[in-house]
Amino acid sequence: MDLEMEFRDLGRQYDRLKEEIDRRIAGVIASSHYISGPEVRELETALADYVGVKHCITCANGTDALTLACMAWGIGPGDAVFVPDFTFFSSGESPASLGAHIIFVDVEPDTFNMDPEKLAAAIETVKKEGRFTPKAVVAVDLFGQPADYDRIRPLCDQYGLLLLEDGAQGFGGEIRGKKACSFGDISTTSFFPAKPLGCYGDGGAIFTDNDAWAELLRSYCVHGKSAVSKYDNQRLGMNSRLDTLQAAILLPKLEAFRRAEVDMVNQVAGWYREALSDTDFVLPTVKEGFRSSWAQFTIRAPERLDRDAVQGGLKVAGIPAMVYYMKPMHLQGAFTGTGSEEADCPVTEALCSRVLSLPMYPDMTKEEVESVAKELCRL
Ligand SMILES: *Cc1c(COP(=O)(O)O)cnc(C)c1O
Repeated sequence: MDLEMEFRDLGRQYDRLKEEIDRRIAGVIASSHYISGPEVRELETALADYVGVKHCITCANGTDALTLACMAWGIGPGDAVFVPDFTFFSSGESPASLGAHIIFVDVEPDTFNMDPEKLAAAIETVKKEGRFTPKAVVAVDLFGQPADYDRIRPLCDQYGLLLLEDGAQGFGGEIRGKKACSFGDISTTSFFPAKPLGCYGDGGAIFTDNDAWAELLRSYCVHGKSAVSKYDNQRLGMNSRLDTLQAAILLPKLEAFRRAEVDMVNQVAGWYREALSDTDFVLPTVKEGFRSSWAQFTIRAPERLDRDAVQGGLKVAGIPAMVYYMKPMHLQGAFTGTGSEEADCPVTEALCSRVLSLPMYPDMTKEEVESVAKELCRL
């Protein structure tokens, strides 16, 4: 059977929004205002309004967004930063690139997000050892579901730690109606094309209610400029801006996202649940009161099946499935020699050999979901 399915078909979304996106792109080109054009501020206002925070500062990508947040907090050598072991590399790369010591924390097997109990234990251990100062927690909203902020926030308050929400995959998620990217002291997201809200290249954004941090972030992302002039450089920063073209593309995409796409993708998740309910594949759990924006629909292969064989079987049927993630963060070569190899993260290690992310996007049809499920049932 030749299905030729795509893992995330962005062409269908473009077909829906083509008129408005093309009009917006043409407008930017006609204006020649390619950097910091009016669309950038328009988007920042719309994003802050959607998320429900005071400030939104756009930047070049989600990795820079994390790094800029860490720079605003002065994170560096001597600081311990707590990061989930099961995530995309950037979550740990950004604080580590500024010299922080990364403590990898194991995750919950059913939500894939940082385990608050293990976070508490890790903070206690760092405090007792006394080599590093516990400084910040990077909580990741993995695969679209917010981390457990009901339990992580009180821990941060108790220990005096800053909370950085890495919402690169979580944009559009909610806890009891409160939106992702509003849970951190600073929160970040990515507009990489395959994320829940993607642009047509690289892009990112930073959210905070704190006026002083917002001002620092605006400075750091443009060469440490002062509030009055780009050529008055107060600190060492970066060149990290969102192109006007990307902002123009994101404006109609954000409108469609808030109006329809989060609901559409949740319907697709519902179809998967229904179609896979009688199998022994383990389906992703969404906590009571939480809502996912389904950056990924990630199942776990049962013990009787080899995950790579499942992926191979789907591939033969024309169905692309991806392994997010193959390797625990604490075993990544970049962290060799930092003591990370000793991290105790058995849940992450087990997940890395069992997880498989299925095709998932708002425009996916019920028939397509059912054909994926049918192939899985044959394995
Ligand atoms: C994609 C991603 C990032 C980085 O975003 P980029 O825009 O690709 O730099 C950071 N954290 C997580 C969890 C991600 O999935």
